[in-house]
Amino acid sequence: MKKYEHSVSLDISKCTGCTTCIHRCPTEAIRVRDHHAVIDPDRCIDCGECIRVCPHSAKKAVLDHIKDMDRFKWKIALPAPSLYAQFDNLDDVDYVLQGLLDIGFDDVFEVSRAAELVSAYTRNYLKVEGIQKPAISSACPAVVRLIELRFPFLKDNIIKMLPPMEIAAKIARDEAIEKHPELKPEDIGVCFISPCPAKMSYVRNGFSDYESKVDVVVPISDIYFMLINAMNHAKQPKCLSESGMIGIGWATSGGEATAIFNEKYLAADGIDNVIRVLDQIEDGNIPHLEFVELNACTGGCVGGALTMQNPFIAKARLQSLRRYLPVSQNFLSADEAKYIPEYYFFNELPEYSPISRLSESMAESMRMMADIQKLKNQLPGYDCGSCGAPTCRAFAEDVVKGLAKKSDCVLIMKDRFKEYLENLGEDEDK
Ligand code: SF4
Ligand code: SF4
Repeated sequence: MKKYEHSVSLDISKCTGCTTCIHRCPTEAIRVRDHHAVIDPDRCIDCGECIRVCPHSAKKAVLDHIKDMDRFKWKIALPAPSLYAQFDNLDDVDYVLQGLLDIGFDDVFEVSRAAELVSAYTRNYLKVEGIQKPAISSACPAVVRLIELRFPFLKDNIIKMLPPMEIAAKIARDEAIEKHPELKPEDIGVCFISPCPAKMSYVRNGFSDYESKVDVVVPISDIYFMLINAMNHAKQPKCLSESGMIGIGWATSGGEATAIFNEKYLAADGIDNVIRVLDQIEDGNIPHLEFVELNACTGGCVGGALTMQNPFIAKARLQSLRRYLPVSQNFLSADEAKYIPEYYFFNELPEYSPISRLSESMAESMRMMADIQKLKNQLPGYDCGSCGAPTCRAFAEDVVKGLAKKSDCVLIMKDRFKEYLENLGEDEDK
């Protein structure tokens, strides 16, 4: 099984072991051991939630730097639509695109342009007979990994269509070769400007049979000041934008789903809500749904951990920006959308061990499950985190797996100490 490369890491020197992050991690991937946090790489989905909540900035995203583009002769920027929401009073996307050219990129290709194509093809894909419904969007990489680890029975519901970032990278490369036949494929570098760390993990890991076409991923927060400086000095920008309301709408929760033009959809954002929805889909409690859009971040990609703006302000900005745009600049007729090019698809999701699996052996798993339940019943149930685990149940699992000692629970220790003192008193009375 291929090792998963993560894009969220811990700076131990800054971690105080305060336990704030352990309660927020959606997959219970964090423990505090020896006075600092430890991330379980098999559980982490790179959602970035711990980066957001750590009061000591001990969690960080491991991404590239814009200097990593220097090795390429022809540099293409792929701005995520959430980038446009970072600027006050922006009424024309071309200022951002021109700014990217002015800071050194040779070309820009809007991810929102590719998003409009993905929306057009998804509308048709949903009409294909026999596909598992509700079809779940694969656009948020943190959600895809969450499903694989925590909801493996829903794996077949994930649409095996590549996200707009990848389609943008492929088309941008093809266009560059067509316009500049002197370029070799290795001369072209594609840089995604990302709102979240999960996109970086996606680029590093791809899918089982698919390698990402993106070379470098830089956070919006790293490029923001450089870009704003360039935009402030820009004259009238060239007409560069080739996307409309649909493509830019992908930056906020519900944008992708409304572009399906089918009222049988559900859109949820924020990791807790996403988990609740997946629980209900798994239990069969949400019937008659055709399409589900899930975003790990609050508000959608505008709420990514690597953005600069509050997601609600960002959403309001995009609403006013979209008002001046055509519905789509990449509309495909029903006939055109009928045949989805092969390069829009991937074949297989990677194989991960679901986190609920305790052992390879079924009998052993059952025994461990019973032991966990028994120990959990002996614990106080406060989920205080002082043992370093997020809940008493998670602590019981750690003890049964041999990763923690029962005495790590301060309340158990307190009882044992009390008992010891009482026994000591009895001995002295004798
Ligand atoms: S929130 Fe987590 S990573 Fe940050 S200081 Fe506290 S224990 Fe360490
Ligand atoms: S990135 Fe998300 S899943 Fe990974 S440790 Fe942090 S909170 Fe948990």
